[in-house]
Amino acid sequence: MHVLNYIGGELREPAGGAYLDNIEPATGAVIGRTPDSGAPDVEEAVVAAEKAFPAWSSLSVQERSGHLLRIAGLIEENREELALAESNDTGKPVALAETVDIPRAASNFRFYATAIEHFASDAHAMGRTALNYTLRAPIGLAGCISPWNLPLYLLTWKIAPALAAGNCVIGKPSELTPTTAFLLSRICIEAGLPAGVLNIVHGHGHKAGAAVADHPGIPVVSFTGGTATGRRIAAAAAPNFKRVSLELGGKNPNIVFADCPYEDTLQTALLSSFSNQGEICLCGPRILVERPLYETFRDDFVERTRGLTVGDPREAGNRLGAVVSEAHMDKILSYVELAREEGGRVLCGGQRVRVNGRCRDGWFVAPTVIEGLAPDCRTNQEEIFGPVVTLLPFDSDDEAVAKANGTPYGLAAMVWTDNLGRAHRVAERLHAGIIWINCWMLRDLRTPFGGMKQSGVGREGGFEALRFFTEPKNVCIKM
Ligand code: NDP
Repeated sequence: MHVLNYIGGELREPAGGAYLDNIEPATGAVIGRTPDSGAPDVEEAVVAAEKAFPAWSSLSVQERSGHLLRIAGLIEENREELALAESNDTGKPVALAETVDIPRAASNFRFYATAIEHFASDAHAMGRTALNYTLRAPIGLAGCISPWNLPLYLLTWKIAPALAAGNCVIGKPSELTPTTAFLLSRICIEAGLPAGVLNIVHGHGHKAGAAVADHPGIPVVSFTGGTATGRRIAAAAAPNFKRVSLELGGKNPNIVFADCPYEDTLQTALLSSFSNQGEICLCGPRILVERPLYETFRDDFVERTRGLTVGDPREAGNRLGAVVSEAHMDKILSYVELAREEGGRVLCGGQRVRVNGRCRDGWFVAPTVIEGLAPDCRTNQEEIFGPVVTLLPFDSDDEAVAKANGTPYGLAAMVWTDNLGRAHRVAERLHAGIIWINCWMLRDLRTPFGGMKQSGVGREGGFEALRFFTEPKNVCIKM
């Protein structure tokens, strides 16, 4: 597909006329062209957004909500086309995109279209002395920079609250996965979203993305991506005193106690290890298992992992598709090599998978399970972001908590136990922004979402996002 920028309500060629190839990871073939935009395109988007802001921010909440609901409806109507595009760009199974990514993108718009109607400001009475109330106004222009793993889902998770709160947006999707954002541009035109309210500029992170992060006319930036890029965004934002939200990497622990609900634990651990080829920031690549259950769990887990089919993402029944790029495949496989050097035993997988037919040149990696590694080795400390998990035994609650917390990250953690008291005690001690007890990926969009330590700064989700995208102003009246 020939992707274009969406600026000022129109689909536009990039200012410099240059394009990047869009490559399908499942086949290695070029399937389209993406604008190689830079600072001039971001400047055009800023001008368009500044022009649109006074009218958009003055609309009633119901009118803004109506626009977002129309967009949600059109995403639902175009679910199949969007899911295929998402699969072509990312390599993930079409069925996954159709049942998870695309419905969730629609519900992001639907959720914030209605949340804004219930967003109340605070009032604080100082006895009979004074009354304070807090007004919340949109900030202006919001930069929304998103990664390739859940392209439409994560872009809309930022765009929807920013727009609902009355801001105009400049979005920068990953250049690896531009097509669903382009289809969203067309949907916004069809939905009658006023020109300049949402602008999407495609291209490399170091050019188009950096121009968004640097631009003094964009006072708020919401970023999801790797920790190293997050550091650069924070550094670029600091001199301009921008408000920044950073959702970054993770190395989430999946803690399995011997008294866990076994079948559920096993099935969900398989999902949390290998869904989306392990390319979800919330996946659990470190599985900590209490010693009495360790061998049984290991053997069953490895057997079920061997049963997962890897192949053409368009074929129903394949559980894993391709990973996003050749470079990413090489990175994942280099970590398997590293794990071997660090003394790990590869129990299954560990290699590239060659798929016949249409996908013979695609980038597929076998789901991989490794044991025997020390908790502080690089394989257990660094984010791999692929279908590679390690197994580690533990002997006590204290040891489980210490190992779980023993990385620079703190995004999510899973705890599997039928002992309610232990579940609460362990959850309280874990350094993670989201803790799932006996489940994974259950998301109530009203709850705050985000990580601790190097997994990020700030929280998205629910009213937190509406607070982030608005400026509070306190009015104090003496009685
Ligand atoms: P990157 O950090 O490489 O990229 C994220 C986005 O930032 C892309 O749009 C990228 O553009 C852009 N970008 C890159 N460099 C700059 C720059 N200097 N200035 C501004 N923008 C820039 O992450 P990935 O796309 O590789 O995504 C994977 C990472 O995202 C993983 O670490 C994962 O854990 C994390 N993630 C975190 C989530 C969370 O909620 N905490 C959720 C999902 C993923 P381009 O692609 O064109 O380089």
